[in-house]
Amino acid sequence: MARIVQKFGGSSVANAEKIKNVAKRVAATADEGNQVVVVVSAMGDTTDDLIDLAKQISLDPSQREMDMLMATGEQQSIALLSIALQELGKKAISLTGPQAGIHTDCVASKAKITEVNCARLEKELNAGNIVVVAGFQGLSPDGEIRTLGRGGSDTSGVALAVALKADLCEIFTDVEGVFTADPRIVPKAHKIDSISYDEMLEMASAGAGVLQPRSVELAKQYGIHVHVRSTFTQNKGTIVQEGNKMENLEKEMVVSGVALDRNVIKVSVFDVPDEIGVASKLFRALADARINVDMIIQGGDRNRLNSITFTTGKDEKIKLEKLLNDVVPKIGAKEYTVSDGVSKVSIVGAGMITNPGVAAKMFETLSDNGFNIELISTSEIKVSCIVKEDRAAEAVCLLHTAFDLDKE
Ligand code: ASP
Ligand code: MG
Repeated sequence: MARIVQKFGGSSVANAEKIKNVAKRVAATADEGNQVVVVVSAMGDTTDDLIDLAKQISLDPSQREMDMLMATGEQQSIALLSIALQELGKKAISLTGPQAGIHTDCVASKAKITEVNCARLEKELNAGNIVVVAGFQGLSPDGEIRTLGRGGSDTSGVALAVALKADLCEIFTDVEGVFTADPRIVPKAHKIDSISYDEMLEMASAGAGVLQPRSVELAKQYGIHVHVRSTFTQNKGTIVQEGNKMENLEKEMVVSGVALDRNVIKVSVFDVPDEIGVASKLFRALADARINVDMIIQGGDRNRLNSITFTTGKDEKIKLEKLLNDVVPKIGAKEYTVSDGVSKVSIVGAGMITNPGVAAKMFETLSDNGFNIELISTSEIKVSCIVKEDRAAEAVCLLHTAFDLDKE
């Protein structure tokens, strides 16, 4: 008997028919003699709809109430899935994140899981239940329901797999697995059979929306193999696991995938005095406001004045502008601009470590096709460029071709 955690995303439980389909799939896993814990997201676009609803009432609703509101989405799906399982004659019980013993820190809307107390889960499993747990939520020490940030059910799924010492963690979604690029953008994109944690992490943080980056970090930390696969077919998907050994590296693709992140805003702070401590003050203020910064570039230094440019997510815009109005004068800088209308295009691949010229090829591909690169950042296995949003999808296609990913 194996213990399996299966996570189903919003598109897999978008309506009653789909919920019945998921129930069949879960029931089949249980019928093979496995203990099954299911983690579900909110139905379809429910989370977006709930956020829209709140925004119709307030432009800047309190984060506590947003958590309270957003957490209701997952509660609908757990109850409906349990009902569907019971309808199939299975013993099933739904549990909210707090009921399932998922504890988080106190950060509203972006909470991190601190601990999973498995007592209730074990009790329900031992009683022969399929346990259906609400993803994306947990209980903080101050007694509040917290949500884990968008896409957080993936992290709930992996965290439960870790805590329950599951034999397998399956993440079911509406695509066949992790692709070399988003197939809606690049028709020639193909499924990757196996990807290392590091590559997946870079792909996920570069905007390949299949997995929440934090879930990959967690899987890597505990060595959990994650199988990303389709809810709607029986096909094998993508296994996320430790990378291949070094001797295989050269045989691998130099670039494994191209990702696009449209959730980007670019912020530039101008005429920043070239003095010790200025950047630290700016980024401390951003950190204290829990604004996640991605790329950071400092440039300039004319007349002892610099410019500092960074990127963050679109949903931070209102909070960010409030903060910059306060901080920019404090650090002696003159002005700032916030631009949306840009996107991040990234190439990812462990093979980059041993192959020179990858970044050059990326920049050439973009410049040959008339793209202006606004910002660049790199890691050992990723190169990202900020380009104008209106042609970003085209850039992804061009890079997919340039790095030989079009052919399988
Ligand atoms: N329902 C949440 C969201 O839409 C969590 C998730 O789907 O993973 O972000
Ligand atoms: Mg998701």
